[in-house]
Amino acid sequence: MSNTVKKLAVLGSTGSIGQQALDIIKDFPDKFRIVGLAGGKNTSLLAGQISQFQPKLAYSPIKFSLPDKTKFSSMEEMATHPDVDIVIIATSGKTGLAPTLAAIRSGKKIALANKEVLVMAGEIIMAEAKYHRAQILPIDSEHSAIWQCLRGEKAEVARLILTASGGPFYHYSPTQLAKVTIEEALQHPTWKMGKKVTIDSATLMNKGLELIEAHWLFSIPFKKMEIIIHPQSIIHSLVEFADGSLKAQLSTPDMRFPIQYALSYPERLANPRLPHIDLARLNSLTFETINYSMFPCLQLALNAGKKGGTYPSVLCAADEIAVELFLKQHINFPGIAEIIAHTISLHRGIAKPTLDEILAADDWARDTALKLTQKANLCLKQ
Ligand code: MG
Repeated sequence: MSNTVKKLAVLGSTGSIGQQALDIIKDFPDKFRIVGLAGGKNTSLLAGQISQFQPKLAYSPIKFSLPDKTKFSSMEEMATHPDVDIVIIATSGKTGLAPTLAAIRSGKKIALANKEVLVMAGEIIMAEAKYHRAQILPIDSEHSAIWQCLRGEKAEVARLILTASGGPFYHYSPTQLAKVTIEEALQHPTWKMGKKVTIDSATLMNKGLELIEAHWLFSIPFKKMEIIIHPQSIIHSLVEFADGSLKAQLSTPDMRFPIQYALSYPERLANPRLPHIDLARLNSLTFETINYSMFPCLQLALNAGKKGGTYPSVLCAADEIAVELFLKQHINFPGIAEIIAHTISLHRGIAKPTLDEILAADDWARDTALKLTQKANLCLKQ
């Protein structure tokens, strides 16, 4: 047991993962100390977090008065500050990319919850992390499960099996899917998450992004990865070894488990506030084969991941626009996949892109996805 206090910067502290990370951190004041907090538009929540944790540094897109001990900084400055040991990247979208790279280049440990960072720039991120010996600690439940299953194993992996709850519409027909409301799409059966991730879970885009992340994190080819539907979300993923043995990681579906593991690693901390599993009360754990044809977003993600280059950035950006349009009721649920597919079909990919080329592909995809929707609306009106 180490007695050193880990000093943390939390980027995206006002989001769902950020708030749950702070919830864990406040339970262990002798283990963790906050050096920096970077929030989003919810400044009153951020101000409350700042007065509670008294960080040295704060970042907010909207400025407000700070306590004497705290000063405003950029996210990059915070992520590279000499006092910081671990940077939690819980921002959403591409905003996490630059600070993650900066933190890696300063040799920090990265507790990564943001999907876009690895999906958009996995090749660059992993190469930089290797070069600077910066460890990437996954916070996503599936990747945390795989990481835990791989600990202590030297044997080659035969298969990674990512579990998926299937989301709220797993058994819907195409006609039912076309009529899905925002309220229905925001009701995830097992996990409580932010809006974007919840919609991505309903389309299974989220699982597709997770496959791309797993590909980079564990350097596993796509052909060695599978998805299985597991509606109870108790098994968070599995690893199969050459001898046919499977290792799985189980817990109640609560993001505080993978967050706490990433922060406490290599230790495990006893936390009585986390809901433990009572195996005898779990009636059953069930599994089903996934039907790709029902979830075009998953297929789109898998194809983009295999193509690589700038395609995954285009996928992420078009998805972000499409989900926003769905939440504004401008398109229906199947329209999300249609916009993404159309945008990708117009993209001329670049292999081995630089970070600037990745960001330019992202901009192009946002523009293109929006224009496609405007055109479609125009046609409807005529
Ligand atoms: Mg996940």
